[in-house]
Amino acid sequence: MHCVVVGGGLAGLASAVWLTEAGHRVTVLERRGSLGGRTIAMPVAAVDDVPDNGQHVFASGYEHLMRYLDSVGTREHVRFPGHMTVRLPGGDTRRSSFAGVAGLRAAIGDLPGVTGLDRLRTARAQATLIRQALRQPDWLDDITADEWFRRIGMPQSARDALWDGIVIGLTGDKPTISSAKVPADLLVTGMRRARATKTPISIGYPSVDLDTLFVDGAQKVFADNGVDIRHRAVVASVDVADGAVTGVTLTDGERVPADAVICAVPVWSVKGLLDQVPGHEKIYAAVEQLTPVPIVSVNLYLDRSIGMADWGEILLGGEGVLEQVWDRQRMHGRDPQRHHLYSTTVSAAYDLTGKSNAEITDIQMDMLRRYFPAARDAEIVHSHVVRMPKSTFAQRPGTAGIRPDQRTSVRGLALAGDWTRTDWTTTMEGACQSAARAVEIVLEGAGRV
Ligand SMILES: Cc1cc2nc3c(=O)[nH]c(=O)nc-3n(C[C@H](O)[C@H](O)[C@H](O)COP(=O)(O)OP(=O)(O)OC[C@H]3O[C@@H](n4cnc5c(N)ncnc54)[C@H](O)[C@@H]3O)c2cc1C
Repeated sequence: MHCVVVGGGLAGLASAVWLTEAGHRVTVLERRGSLGGRTIAMPVAAVDDVPDNGQHVFASGYEHLMRYLDSVGTREHVRFPGHMTVRLPGGDTRRSSFAGVAGLRAAIGDLPGVTGLDRLRTARAQATLIRQALRQPDWLDDITADEWFRRIGMPQSARDALWDGIVIGLTGDKPTISSAKVPADLLVTGMRRARATKTPISIGYPSVDLDTLFVDGAQKVFADNGVDIRHRAVVASVDVADGAVTGVTLTDGERVPADAVICAVPVWSVKGLLDQVPGHEKIYAAVEQLTPVPIVSVNLYLDRSIGMADWGEILLGGEGVLEQVWDRQRMHGRDPQRHHLYSTTVSAAYDLTGKSNAEITDIQMDMLRRYFPAARDAEIVHSHVVRMPKSTFAQRPGTAGIRPDQRTSVRGLALAGDWTRTDWTTTMEGACQSAARAVEIVLEGAGRV
């Protein structure tokens, strides 16, 4: 078959690699000048460096993403240290983990900043939360995560210490916006995966930049197998005749014929592409309800170490957003001779995206100085602000079940992308799981072509 993959983000790359592995001829059409979509490294000439567009953390249950890394030969670059650190203003820290003693302490409500009776209330609320996640009441998708926490009596201190951060980390959005069903489903997925693989849930990170991890290996597979990669190729429509896909048309009018198409564009780019697909109205209606969430990341090159205690630290006491700092020296084995690189991430950064780079840098530096005593006299060598207004998507109450399946009503056409229906929300694993399903659907149909 000749298969066309529209979009060269993770979902498109995984689709193209796996279709190639299955022996088919593949063309990738990517709108931009490079591959990688939302997972890319960005050259910064001022410091002669190539930092990422934003920290991407892995969860231990990311099986399809790991399969992709196996296919492109870069799995060895992912580390699972089994812990992160939580830091309070002033510098006090506590290691956090879902396993061992730290996991046990968390389960009984012993969380940083949670004291007295609140510990008991936390333990009780957490037990209710797990029970309701496993046997979900039918109102769970009618309320936000914030309301769920209030209903089960989760103390504010435990929310500040753990649960609000988990919601933002898992769903990409604030507890006042995300449907309660999204973190509940993800907790269940995580627990199931942990049981199946007999490994506790943990968080991991890449020890190389995102291009090396995701793009370079794929490009080698493509070069070795004659995959045609076309940059700046913007698809305007997926073409359908007699219930089967016939190819795609680019915005400049060129037609690219195909026996099969995997459409792996992000949720905010899909409208208009599927007009010839019967039932596209339902897909477009879903798209309307999955609204973009911003992340602001800053790569801060400093003249000295700020004395981080761990590879990644969560700063408690933010203003309803998740603030994290990453120590690139530890993570990437960087030589700190020229400068020390710390990357900060602010998820659900609605208030930051409109500010200037200087304002964002000041806010981030002030924050580091409040949390890390050693940062007080640190000087900035260079600051690289990455604003991504469309990083992930929000799933508000009432949106359960609206994400479309990878299978479409058209023979030879499948959808992929983190926004299509998977066991995960807007994640790299969602992108790769959707790709695995899309490839399966296309291969199922191969006999008929
Ligand atoms: C800053 C940041 C931090 C994140 N952190 C995490 C994290 O810690 N853990 C995690 O699991 N996930 C994280 N994510 C989410 C993760 O990056 C995404 O879920 C995943 O990369 C989505 O991949 P995708 O292939 O579905 O979409 P994309 O990566 O968006 O790829 C889609 C591609 O389609 C192309 N395209 C669009 N329209 C057209 C067209 N008409 N024709 C041709 N090409 C087109 C685009 O240019 C793009 O390259 C983060 C995202 C961001 C931005």
